[in-house]
Order: sequence, then structure tokens, then C-alpha cells
Amino acid sequence: MRDVIIIGGGPAGVAAGVYSARKKLKTLLITESFGGQSAIAESIENWIGSKKISGMEFAKILEEHIRAQENIEIKMPENVIEVKKISDGFEITTDKNNSYQAMALIITSGGRRRRLNIPGEAQFEGKGVAYCSTCDAPVFKNKSVAVVGAGDAGLGAAIDLARYAEKVYLISNKKSLIGDMSLQEIVKNSEKITIITDAEVQEVLGGEFVFGLKYFAQNDNQIKELNVEGIFVEIGSTPNSEFVKKLVDTNPKGEIIIDHRTGATSRPGIFAAGFATDEIYKQNNIAVGDGVVAALSAYNYLLNLEKL
Ligand SMILES: Cc1cc2nc3c(=O)[nH]c(=O)nc-3n(C[C@H](O)[C@H](O)[C@H](O)COP(=O)(O)OP(=O)(O)OC[C@H]3O[C@@H](n4cnc5c(N)ncnc54)[C@H](O)[C@@H]3O)c2cc1C
Repeated sequence: MRDVIIIGGGPAGVAAGVYSARKKLKTLLITESFGGQSAIAESIENWIGSKKISGMEFAKILEEHIRAQENIEIKMPENVIEVKKISDGFEITTDKNNSYQAMALIITSGGRRRRLNIPGEAQFEGKGVAYCSTCDAPVFKNKSVAVVGAGDAGLGAAIDLARYAEKVYLISNKKSLIGDMSLQEIVKNSEKITIITDAEVQEVLGGEFVFGLKYFAQNDNQIKELNVEGIFVEIGSTPNSEFVKKLVDTNPKGEIIIDHRTGATSRPGIFAAGFATDEIYKQNNIAVGDGVVAALSAYNYLLNLEKL
């Protein structure tokens, strides 16, 4: 029985881990990987204390910081698949068939990109279907690509891709673009980008690699095809909260509802921080602060239980 188990090794989890370990809590951190979602970013320019850092370097410094703590046990790569309530705490089961127990939990499992869930998407992932323009735009130099989704992420991806691709189709299922106005301006003024609105993407087409997509054009009630070699899916993120949903309250988006002063969830003994929660501002610096709040609250919770 540990004092606390932290799930996740992004900025929120690492911050919670450093603070738990320094409070001398018997801490276990379980994560699929270190660095979290922005580990794939080409550059991070708003991480306070550093003018510019690559996502890979960011992941490295987080990992180094947590591994430098004395009172922490780390399991990586390992994925939590279930959390159960037991009499004096919680039991966690992982994809490696391991189970671990602790009196308190801190959930910092962040989020993942949403998928279209259409035929061909999974089959051609990495063979033309992509989820990170910052990472993969150069692969599509002088090719035709489509970006699905026209919020901030989609607009940003179309702009990134226009620097490399010959032609970029920006596809939205809405009647107009919805993202940031200044990004919309850039997209509308780009000679390389063609905007297709009111379009529902239905299928990814390919052989060995992607060669096109099918969409339903709502305006003229027709199924149409586009010849593209790359399809970037930019339709937002979803929180990684499935494994704990039976134990804590979540909102309709699946975000874990927390008390923002303490990081406490609806279940005594379970705290949460960062992207997986209903925090409004999903940023690295905020995830770190929220992780610290959750760790200090878990410490106070254990003190009050008189288990320390
Ligand atoms: C491409 C990109 C660029 C970004 N750039 C910036 C930026 O420049 N500045 C900024 O402030 N924010 C940026 N963000 C947002 C920022 O990445 C998030 O706000 C931040 O990562 C949230 O941190 P987190 O620790 O809560 O969650 P995450 O970063 O999502 O970390 C979650 C962690 O949990 C692990 N995990 C997930 N599920 C499980 C499980 N079941 N079991 C075990 N481990 C699990 C994951 O491996 C990961 O380590 C960017 C996001 C993206 C996608």
C-alpha cells in the first residue's frame, strides 16, 4: 500500500510527483510516456523560464526532474486501464496485468486527439492519415493534402502545411470557419489553401498509402472525392478519463470535475489536475500549477486520515 499513485507523466503528473516525493509520501508514478501532449511540438515558446524549447527537450527535462527525486517509484511505459475502490484506498490495474494500491490517487492522464472514426482512418494512420502537422508537414512537400476541422487547430495545420504542400484543402462540416479571426485571414488569403465548408468526410481512400478521401457535400447533396496523399485530422482532443469514470464525476466532455482550489474530485482521496480535468485553460504552465495543488491536497488528505 503506497501513500499516493500518480497516473500520467505530462507536466501535471511530473509536478505532482516532485511535490509528493518532496513531502516524503510513498509515491508511485505510472505513465505511458513522459512529456505529455506537447512532447511532439516543434517548439514551445511560452514555458515560463525558457524562451524556446523543443517538445522533445521539454519531455527530457520533465523526466530528469522526476527521476532525480528520492521517494518515487516510476513505472513507464505502463498504462492504467482500471481503478477500483478498496476498503482503505484504491486499486489500479494496468495493461501489464499489474495491480498497485494506494490510499490516494492523483489523475493527470491528460488527453488525446479525437478521431473521425470513419472507414480507412485506422488502416491508413501513419500511411497518409496524420494528427500532428507540426510533426508531419515536411513529409508532404509538394503533395496535395486535406485538413479536416476548421477550428484553431485546423487553421493552424492548414497554415503549417501550406509552407510545404502544393495544395491544401481545408474541410469543415460547418457553414463557415470557426477559429481565430487572424488565422482565418491568413487561410483565406493563401493561394495554396482551398476551403470546403458544409462537408462531411466519410471515408479515407488508399492502396498502400492514402490517395484520397470521400466526403458528403451537404450543399448539393452529393458524395464527392478529393485526390490527396495526406489527411490531417484536427477535430480536437478528448480527455483520458475512461478508466476512472465510474468513481468520479465527469462533465459531458468527459473532463473530471474538480474543486479548483484543491484539485479534489467528487470521490474523497482522488485528486486530479491538468488536461484531464475541467480546467478551462489547457496549458503546460497551468497543468504544472494544478499538479502541485493536487499533490499538496493529497498530502493534507493523508495527514487528516492520520495515516502518515
Ligand atoms: C501539438 C501540441 C502543442 C502544444 N503546445 C503547447 C505550448 O506551446 N504551450 C502550452 O502551454 N501548451 C501547449 N499544448 C497544450 C499542452 O500540451 C497541454 O495543456 C498539457 O500537455 C497538459 O498537460 P497534462 O500533464 O495535464 O496532460 P498530458 O500532457 O496530456 O499528459 C498526460 C500523460 O498521461 C499519460 N497517460 C495517459 N493516459 C494514461 C493511462 N491510462 N495510464 C498511464 N499514463 C497515461 C500520457 O502518456 C502523458 O504522459 C500543446 C498541445 C499539443 C497537442
